[in-house]
Amino acid sequence: MTPFEQIQHHIQKGAEALSLTKAEQKKLLTPYAIRETALKVNIGGEECSLDAYRVQFNNARGPYKGGVRFHPDADIDEVQALAAAMMIKCAVIDIPLGGAKGGVAFDPKACTTEEVETVSRAYAEAMAPFIGVDIDIPAPDVYTNAQVMSWMLDTYEKTVKKSEPGVVTGKPLELGGSRGRDTATAQGGIYVLNEHIAHTGKSPHGVTVAVQGFGNAGATAAKLLHGAGYTVVAISDSQGTLYNASGLDPIAVEKVKLATKSVTGLYCEGGVCDDEAMLRDGAEVLDVDAIIAIDCDVLVPAALDNAITSENVADVKATVVLELANNPVSPEADNILFERGVVVLPDVLVNAGGVTVSYFEWVQNRMQYYWEESEVQEKLKKQMVQAYAALREQVQEKHISYREAAYRTGIERVVEAMRLKGHF
Ligand code: NAD
Repeated sequence: MTPFEQIQHHIQKGAEALSLTKAEQKKLLTPYAIRETALKVNIGGEECSLDAYRVQFNNARGPYKGGVRFHPDADIDEVQALAAAMMIKCAVIDIPLGGAKGGVAFDPKACTTEEVETVSRAYAEAMAPFIGVDIDIPAPDVYTNAQVMSWMLDTYEKTVKKSEPGVVTGKPLELGGSRGRDTATAQGGIYVLNEHIAHTGKSPHGVTVAVQGFGNAGATAAKLLHGAGYTVVAISDSQGTLYNASGLDPIAVEKVKLATKSVTGLYCEGGVCDDEAMLRDGAEVLDVDAIIAIDCDVLVPAALDNAITSENVADVKATVVLELANNPVSPEADNILFERGVVVLPDVLVNAGGVTVSYFEWVQNRMQYYWEESEVQEKLKKQMVQAYAALREQVQEKHISYREAAYRTGIERVVEAMRLKGHF
């Protein structure tokens, strides 16, 4: 299944459970607008043309909202899928925004900073007629960041000839960013996990966790989980998995990752490992995919889509999967986990902390009044805990998965807005 087919599958399942008509289902599954263009830019001294997209999936509940990713594999199918997920996510977490996503197909890692700036500005210029503080609000996503948002904001403001900080979120604090935005995705997921663990009668102490991916989402999650009392027994990145049954210190792992470019650098260099040191510390360096099969209570996929599929789902030993990445469990694997009684806390809830604090940033920009970190955290926690509680009620009442509960909730809210506005 392509990414868009996967999300269509989840939306269709929810729509059928809610008895939407075929015509309503079709409208719900069709993006309101697709903006496609080719950016003419100079990269490596050569004039080239980069495919660029903005999919505005649905704005029944409020202005379109979603990140822009720079990635060689970015294509219309993936961008549509992510835009549809944003529609569901904003509705599940109950913020008054719609769903969108953008992408440019190129490899920013192979470019100079000046070239990335050129692409960022070209994208903002091309999309300026279609975005706006009350229309569509981009944000960072894979391989875009606060600096990219600063360039896009500047180009947009020059185009419309006025100050409009709320047209993008994920900005640096100096340009109107929100406190708490950099840790919001991971922190939001941990608020959800804390609630879930408390409902199972446990406390974080004694709960073991494995984190796949050590980038923005994964590294922040590992550090926050450790700080909250969980035992982080395994961490992986694209080079391998670091495992220690008695627990790792993610801050130490981060220092090693910065110095050696891999979490396995604590014991290995260029494929040669210090076995004595590993034995002394009770640690092991395993291959990249070993993270899925780690003996732990909670598995946190925070790297790739389709990390757990029908191929490796049998290896999962965790009883809870906390989906910090987008789309990390394939629909087939999702069904198998549900049947086995493994609780999958879904991406459209778990990683919604990022867009929630983006929403807070947009609100603060509009008020031109800025909150302290503690105020942001209090509001984020409230939003995440309420959303989890609403889904939990349905899960217990209807004996469905958290994903089904999330999709039903999200669809119900979007459809209600569409009906009220006469979009059907
Ligand atoms: P990132 O690029 O900062 O980090 C990705 C990490 O995954 C890197 O450490 C990389 O080494 C690792 N990785 C790559 N291949 C791997 C493999 N085969 N096994 C293990 N690790 C591997 O990206 P990110 O921003 O942390 O995003 C990760 C996921 O979280 C994506 O699905 C993204 O859409 C989702 N997400 C992120 C945010 C956010 O605020 N950063 C918000 C919502 C969703």
